[in-house]
Amino acid sequence: MMEQKLDGNAAAGMLQAIFPFDMTLAQVTCAGCGTTTVIGATAAYMHGMGAIIRCPRCDNALIHIVHARGRYWLDMRSVRVLEIKEG
Ligand SMILES: [Zn+2]
Repeated sequence: MMEQKLDGNAAAGMLQAIFPFDMTLAQVTCAGCGTTTVIGATAAYMHGMGAIIRCPRCDNALIHIVHARGRYWLDMRSVRVLEIKEG
């Protein structure tokens, strides 16, 4: 499957359709290496069915987003903590 490597801001449109806040400013802590970073600064691999957001340090797949048949599936098993700043 063809993938295009971009930064986490590239996945913003898809994340905006799911979450009611700006996910690019949310901080994720990688379950693999413990690095904390904003989603906008992660590496995002866009593909036909969605996106994979990877840790910029260890390349662990933090969030898998699949968009198909009018639904979104999120696999966030490699996110230890998701920190969302209020308004
Ligand atoms: Zn990591």
